[in-house]
Amino acid sequence: MLFINAQEVHLEAEPVAYKQPCPLCGSEQGVKRNGQNQPRKIRHLNLFGKRCYLVLPSLRLACSRCHIGFVWTYSFVGPKERYSRLF
Ligand SMILES: [Zn+2]
Repeated sequence: MLFINAQEVHLEAEPVAYKQPCPLCGSEQGVKRNGQNQPRKIRHLNLFGKRCYLVLPSLRLACSRCHIGFVWTYSFVGPKERYSRLF
């Protein structure tokens, strides 16, 4: 938990896996982590009757086979969206 007050609670979360497959070749073999962008703050379902935000790392990945970079995809929130699918 990062922060809590009368109205809001902020939770930090991060992926359990170390890598995600490349969206082009579908393989993890050439994939490496390549730093991260500013963390994402995603509005999620209320918790303890407070507005709940998930703070997620925006992980950059690179595939050495395809020479592309991509950003970690979370199943519960679309790319660039600021609200979770459940919310
Ligand atoms: Zn690839």
